[in-house]
Amino acid sequence: MYYVDLHVHSNASDGTFSPKQVVKAANQAGLTAIALTDHDTTDGVAEAVLAAENTPLELIPGTELSCVYRGTEIHILGLFIDWTDPVLTASLHELRATRGRRNDIMLERLQEAGFDITLEDLKGGSPDTVITRAHFARVLTEKGYTKDRSTAFRKYLSEGCPFYVPKEELSPERAMELLCHAGAFPVLAHPMQYHLCYDQVEELLLLLSSLGLKGLEVYHPSSNQYQSGKLLSMARRLGLSPTGGSDFHGSNKPDIKLGVGRGSLRVPLALLEELKARR
Ligand code: AMP
Ligand code: ZN
Ligand code: FE
Ligand code: FE
Repeated sequence: MYYVDLHVHSNASDGTFSPKQVVKAANQAGLTAIALTDHDTTDGVAEAVLAAENTPLELIPGTELSCVYRGTEIHILGLFIDWTDPVLTASLHELRATRGRRNDIMLERLQEAGFDITLEDLKGGSPDTVITRAHFARVLTEKGYTKDRSTAFRKYLSEGCPFYVPKEELSPERAMELLCHAGAFPVLAHPMQYHLCYDQVEELLLLLSSLGLKGLEVYHPSSNQYQSGKLLSMARRLGLSPTGGSDFHGSNKPDIKLGVGRGSLRVPLALLEELKARR
């Protein structure tokens, strides 16, 4: 069997592997294809494409956009995106600037509360990184303020916590428009992560489908076998293609391995072939 991983982060956003290291690791893992889907950026794609040249690995350019649906943050993957599109590049640049302003406020609040954390700490040696709350969690843990990253989220970084600052909201309409403009195959990422019931997920999918959604991430570390089964039948019923990926972040999510997630994830090549046939 041949396997793929259609949801991977590098240090162009909040992963710890460089795009080149991601490609190397994917080849070592024997994967046939991966999609590089960094948050709000395609800046890692060029390096990954180059690194994958003359190797057996197929590199699919992608990104992962965050937007807000009825107060809940949802993520939409854009696979096969035209990462050279100037409108896309400009819009992503603006999104990252917005993110930067939010990070500054979170950092300032933490510093005012006495946490000894700097912007350099957050960047952690990757100057071009897109800083997310995962970076805050890593630094809080490394500096001994929290015992692990999930505690950092629970105590300080999650919605409702003292240092949580909401991101300026991107609407699903705008996110879908951006992805469709750049020729992407849009996929709703990790539906089980939103604490919605299946009926609400379906409602969300109907809205996104009307905006051009084509896929649903059925296989992801956030859904167990039973949930993936439910999602698969929902995808088929709504005419969406099932996809899957590990959401690999290197040592920013130490329990997640490329291609296999927490160990049992397997995304067969046939799913990728279905996406290609539908593009
Ligand atoms: P942001 O886009 O800045 O809001 O942060 C998103 C990052 O934080 C992603 O890498 C998420 O996987 C991670 N994240 C969000 N909530 C949690 C949580 N409760 N535990 C661990 N990681 C989380
Ligand atoms: Zn991430
Ligand atoms: Fe995500
Ligand atoms: Fe992700």
